Amino acid sequence: MGRSHLIKPVLGNNYPVISHGKGIYLYDKEGNQYIDGSSGAITANIGHGVHEIAEAMWNQAKHVSFVYRSQFTSDAAEQLAEKLANYAPGDLNSVFFVNSGSEATETALKVAIQYFQEQGIVTKTKVISRWTSYHGITLGALSMSGHPLRRQRFTSLLEDFPAAPAPYCYQCPLNETYPGCGVKCADDLENIIQTLGPDQIAAFIAEPVIGASGGAIVPPDEYFKKIRAVCDKYNILLIADEVMTGMGRTGKMFAMEHWNVIPDIIALGKGMSAGYTPMAATIVSDRIMDVIEAGTKVVMSGHTFSANPQSAAVCLAVIEFMEKYKLQENAAAMGEYLVNHLQRLQWKYPLIGDVRGKGLLCGIEFVKDPITREPFELSSKVVDRLLSICFTKGLLVYPAVGGVTGFSGDSILVSPPLTVTKEQISDMVDILDQSISELTTQLITEGLY
Ligand code: PMP
Repeated sequence: MGRSHLIKPVLGNNYPVISHGKGIYLYDKEGNQYIDGSSGAITANIGHGVHEIAEAMWNQAKHVSFVYRSQFTSDAAEQLAEKLANYAPGDLNSVFFVNSGSEATETALKVAIQYFQEQGIVTKTKVISRWTSYHGITLGALSMSGHPLRRQRFTSLLEDFPAAPAPYCYQCPLNETYPGCGVKCADDLENIIQTLGPDQIAAFIAEPVIGASGGAIVPPDEYFKKIRAVCDKYNILLIADEVMTGMGRTGKMFAMEHWNVIPDIIALGKGMSAGYTPMAATIVSDRIMDVIEAGTKVVMSGHTFSANPQSAAVCLAVIEFMEKYKLQENAAAMGEYLVNHLQRLQWKYPLIGDVRGKGLLCGIEFVKDPITREPFELSSKVVDRLLSICFTKGLLVYPAVGGVTGFSGDSILVSPPLTVTKEQISDMVDILDQSISELTTQLITEGLY
């Protein structure tokens, strides 16, 4: 048998061929049904096969799908930018469209650097991020990502940006305990800034809830308030990477709203199009736009497909669907319901160390010992095993591993579309229950647990 022409994530793996999707369900060509318990990559926020979106696609396509942004604007792109600006907090009123989350964070970095350059401050070119983070796969975005697994082959090409400790209370990188620690991880940002010199640093970037690299790590409530104060003190911009958390996923339009903290730049992706088209965005504050407008007037970035009316019309329809069915509110309510059910599994299975999340961005962390929180060996491949057991039982969950050096970080994300119902959550949790039971038996039988 020859090699497939399509390069897939793991060569040689047998991926089922998908036939169609409806709501939280996907069907392959053999007729198997899968519950999309991870919304793909935390993306399919409004579920699959939504007819309103297909209609919006056609309605735009029959007029015009593509115009180049240096030549024309379009109603769809203008309306989408206005809608996002209206939802965005504070003075985040200007939107730059890109095609992926990686481009959105990389654009945020470039805008931050440009903001200082326009003011004649040319030394502020570094961005501080955190260990245990993921901001994207392109070289700039990867430079900002504290994700050893994804960095490992390319370190020589990456900028050596400084990284602060993450607010990862369950496995604190500073060996502290909350609340006695006084949220020392936030104070550490100030130490790093003072060591490097504030004149070197343009921005601090953070995921409001750490997703792909940590499994829905929610910071203590004081964390972002302290971070905002430190950024203000040293004239450093705060970039919120809401690629995973944005667009209602955590029960608020933007996760930073949970702590009433207003960033200077927001990166969006995933749920903004809910997977119906590749589109993402960088939302920028008036404070920054005023400077650029008074200076060169040109935001120094852009892609051929930026702000194309076809994708913009699709994203608009996605947001209208969210509004019509109050999906943000549903995410908040169903998120609580899901976490309660996952906590019941935690009482049953000691290898579940932590259950956490905000809205429908929920995570489970597996450990060898729930008292000492000792992780499993990397070679035990706990998450891979669980994913494959769930898959054969028709449930998709998302791996969140590899964020921390020397620590396996065996976490998964359970994050179904925001349309999910209580009955569907019960079905998902039943499958998870059976799967974790099977995983436990497997690990014990092989002497790994
Ligand atoms: N930032 C965050 C927080 C993400 O979760 C991701 C994707 N997992 C990205 C950026 C990169 O987005 P994309 O894969 O669309 O480039």
